[in-house]
Amino acid sequence: MLDKIKPTSAVNAPNDLNAFWMPFTANRAFKRAPKMVVGAEGMHYITTDGRKIIDAASGMWCTNAGHGRKQIAEAIKAQADALDFSPPFQFGQPKAFELASRIADLAPEGLDHVFFCNSGSEAADTALKIAVAHQQLKGQGSRTRLIGRERGYHGVGFGGTAVGGIGNNRKMFGPLLNGVDHLPATYDRDKQAFTKGEPEYGAHFADALEGLVNLHGANTIAAVIVEPMAGSTGVLPAPKGYLKRLREITKKHGILLIFDEVITGYGRLGYAFAAERYGVTPDMITFAKGVTNGAVPMGGVITSAEIHDAFMTGPEHAVELAHGYTYSAHPLACAAGIATLDIYRDEKLFERAHALEPKFAEAVMSLKDAPNVVDIRTVGLTAGIDLAPIADAPGKRGFEAMNAGFHDHELMLRIAGDTLALTPPLILSEAEIGEIVDKVGKVIRAVA
Ligand code: PMP
Repeated sequence: MLDKIKPTSAVNAPNDLNAFWMPFTANRAFKRAPKMVVGAEGMHYITTDGRKIIDAASGMWCTNAGHGRKQIAEAIKAQADALDFSPPFQFGQPKAFELASRIADLAPEGLDHVFFCNSGSEAADTALKIAVAHQQLKGQGSRTRLIGRERGYHGVGFGGTAVGGIGNNRKMFGPLLNGVDHLPATYDRDKQAFTKGEPEYGAHFADALEGLVNLHGANTIAAVIVEPMAGSTGVLPAPKGYLKRLREITKKHGILLIFDEVITGYGRLGYAFAAERYGVTPDMITFAKGVTNGAVPMGGVITSAEIHDAFMTGPEHAVELAHGYTYSAHPLACAAGIATLDIYRDEKLFERAHALEPKFAEAVMSLKDAPNVVDIRTVGLTAGIDLAPIADAPGKRGFEAMNAGFHDHELMLRIAGDTLALTPPLILSEAEIGEIVDKVGKVIRAVA
């Protein structure tokens, strides 16, 4: 199929790059040397000039089933033909109910209800709002404080930005939300370097929550939100025992626990959700990305019956939660989601990720001695490779590695500063693991 995609530079390369203000992009550098794709199939992208690029990033942690899945495209087309849009407030369409049930079936026991939105950012803000509203419904209206974590990423809404722990994402945007605090990040290079899977060291980082309870009073805290593996800040898996301890402390103090599984959901760590891998059930899970294999924007929040049921009181004509989006449970997204879950199930892709994890980890760890590599972390089909920053130019080496990958080595990488993040589609073969690692090695040497 890829062979049928012709070099398209004449047709598809736009000659005016000015109008599109690209998100989270170094716009000026991009527009001098665009990295542009026009097609995708399986493990590969095709560039405007007809080159075939291996995708070590699943697009952006999205396309867990690989690119160009006909089953998903056909489901979207059939849905657009049958029902293009329906109002999600006060009216329904069957696919929304079907997808919600399918997701609830995949989720850990006790997480039974799904609220749909359109992105990971909306999912984070939705979960935070549900948490505060739920506390209020229980007569705990003083519990409005939200706790995130340093080096956490929960999207770009005001809520998600506030609980997020990335200075660069916050400092342009003023005071954000009131009443937010942060746990420390779970990473300590001295004690955890070159770990496969969950680091042995670091469960105690969860105890900082007791500190915040002491500082603010439990009766002011609504919820804690964490990623089981922080992805966007460089692949930081929760240490062994950390999430369990967070669960214990949150329970003890009546604080809700939210796992942001926008990246870790849908097989990335070898399970439907990371909650299952860690054996810890939060009160809510947020998801996006892999739910539709990236094909149509969609996000959502899975909640416990206890949270959901607390809202199902009051007069029957009144909406129970004053929150939602025009495109919540959009028919095209629901159709894409159902087709995607079929593929994950039929091709046993979560199990595949689980089975490939040791080989993937070992292959990536072989880059240990490459120039400037100061740490490597792997978990599931994900790896973070830290390169020593160039003095006075943090992030430049990573940026150059990403560009060298695309322009010179037919490799698409994600970066977080000077960390190279590998997060390939779960369909990848063992040979492709080798190919990706080989190319990453070349890129690392190229920017040394
Ligand atoms: N939460 C996490 C954990 C994420 O990784 C991301 C995106 N990388 C988001 C939220 C935000 O998702 P979106 O970009 O779809 O808004």
